[in-house]
Order: sequence, then structure tokens, then C-alpha cells
Amino acid sequence: AAKADGGRHRRYAAVLDDQAGEEARLGAELRAAMDSGELFMVYQPIVELPHGRVEAVESLIRWQHPDRGLISPCDFIPVAERTGLIVELGEWILRTACAQHVAWRRSGIAPRRMGVNVSARQLAEPGFAGMVAAVLAETRMVPGDLIVEVTETAVFGGGAAVRAVHELTEFGVEIALDDFGTGHSSLGLLQTLPVRVLKVDKSFVENVTLAGRHAVIATSLIQVANGLGLVAVAEGVETAEQAEELYRIGYRRAQGYHFGHPARVPEFARNEASTSKF
Ligand code: C2E
Ligand code: CA
Ligand code: CA
Ligand code: CA
Repeated sequence: AAKADGGRHRRYAAVLDDQAGEEARLGAELRAAMDSGELFMVYQPIVELPHGRVEAVESLIRWQHPDRGLISPCDFIPVAERTGLIVELGEWILRTACAQHVAWRRSGIAPRRMGVNVSARQLAEPGFAGMVAAVLAETRMVPGDLIVEVTETAVFGGGAAVRAVHELTEFGVEIALDDFGTGHSSLGLLQTLPVRVLKVDKSFVENVTLAGRHAVIATSLIQVANGLGLVAVAEGVETAEQAEELYRIGYRRAQGYHFGHPARVPEFARNEASTSKF
């Protein structure tokens, strides 16, 4: 029996070792990727309903790995968080997105605002707000053009993350609550946090055309947003039917494949003419 247990234990330890080894490898490769140009940002339009004019963009990171192919941020952002690499990576993301925004505005292409995702660990890092201020100054981005997207979970615990949110709003940066409705304590947060934008999670948007629970929640969330004077963005809009229904129930901002996929050079930057998307 002792032998069998020992065997199981070794196998279990080997699995953990493999996971730890894989994570360490990915972390080391990510660090190298920051210098080698394998990481890049793509930008997805956020439009006004019903006409589809581009109001803002959200920046999203991509990793084109030489052997593994395109790796999803869902797979490497958590690794960057656990290894602490997110601090450096997050600064690179912010600088890249701000510089792109300023370049677009200078060439007369004007998505009004740029959304940048910030992870929980980054937000809680001492000096985060100071870093943002420095990047804004360096890239000459107008603070009011930047929207920092944070998840409910990142600000749930209070403390440093919440202080950072207040500091950011003090110098004019706007805050969006991402994946709204899927995290902790959604409505309570709205009483205390200086939030400007609610990004309503795509799980509520997906089934908005069906008469079900998700449609009821999507409707309630737009009422909460309107009542509090906040801007609600419907995420993950994939069809014209969804867009029309969202408009009907009161949404005026939307994002999703129906309006444009994330791209290095989005359509609005190739052709300024905005066309109706309905
Ligand atoms: P998120 O912030 O909620 O970003 C929205 C995700 O939905 C993106 O996935 C986007 O490509 C995808 N999406 C947009 N429209 C549609 C649609 O119509 N249908 C569907 N099914 N999906 C749509 P992506 O780019 O793979 O990013 C996944 C997550 O990774 C993001 O979720 C965010 O949490 C994280 N992430 C991405 N880029 C960054 C970054 O620069 N920094 C940080 N900290 N996290 C990032
Ligand atoms: Ca986001
Ligand atoms: Ca989201
Ligand atoms: Ca998400």
C-alpha cells in the first residue's frame, strides 16, 4: 500500500511539476516576446446606435508565437499576472495604445476614446496611477480620451485598487466596469466607485432577442445605467437582430463582431466614411 501511495504521490507531483514548468516556460517566453515584436495590439470599434458611428475603440493584446501560433490573451494574461510580468507588460500595453490613439487623432481619424484593459494585479500595484499619468504625459494623450477598463472583481476588495481608480479619475481618466453583471457585488460598486461606463457582458447580450432571463437582465442593466447617468456598452453583439433589440430596449453603445472585429488597423482607420450597420 505504501508503495502504491508513493506512486500516486509521485505521479501527482509530476503533474504539478509539469504545470509549473509549462507556466514558467510560458512566462519566460512572454518576457522575451515583449522585446521581439511577437506581441501586438488590435483595436475593436465601439459604435453608437443606431447609425454605427465609431465612438471609441478597445485595445486588445495578441501574441503571435513562432511555434504555438496565435495565443489568446485568456491564456497568457493570467500567466503574466501570476508571474508579476503584468506590471511591465501592462505599461507597454498602455503606452502602445495611447501612442496609437494620438497618431490616429493627428491624422484626423478620431475614435473619440481609447479603452485599455487593466488587470487586477496591475491596478493594485503601488504606483499604478503615477505610471498612467507618466504615460499620458509622454504620449501627449488627453486624459479624458482614455478609458481604463477594470473588472468588478479587481475592485471588489477595496484597498489599493479602489484608491487607484479614484486617483485616475482625479486626473480625468474615465473608468469602465468590464464584464458587468458577471462579477461580485455589481450594483453595490456603483454606489461608491466613480465609474462612467458599464460594459454589459456578452452573456446577457447573446440571448437578448429571446424572451428569457438574459433579456430581462439586459433590460434592467440599461435602466440602472440610464438612471445613474452612466453609459452602457453592450458587448459581443454579433447580429443585426441583437443590435436592433438592444437599441429598442435603450442601448446607445455597442461592440461586437457585427460592427467590427478587433484588427491592427480597423476599418474606420482605412476608410473614414461611416456607414449604417443596421
Ligand atoms: P474583454 O476585455 O471582455 O474583451 C472582450 C473580448 O470579447 C475580446 O476577446 C474580444 O475579441 C471578444 N469579442 C469582441 N466582440 C465579440 C463578439 O461579437 N463575439 C464574441 N464571441 N467575442 C467578441 P480577446 O481579445 O480574446 O480578449 C479576452 C480577454 O483577455 C479580454 O476580455 C480581457 O479580459 C483580456 N485582455 C485582452 N487584452 C488585454 C490587455 O491588453 N490587457 C489585459 N490586462 N487584459 C487583456
Ligand atoms: Ca475589456
Ligand atoms: Ca468584457
Ligand atoms: Ca472578459
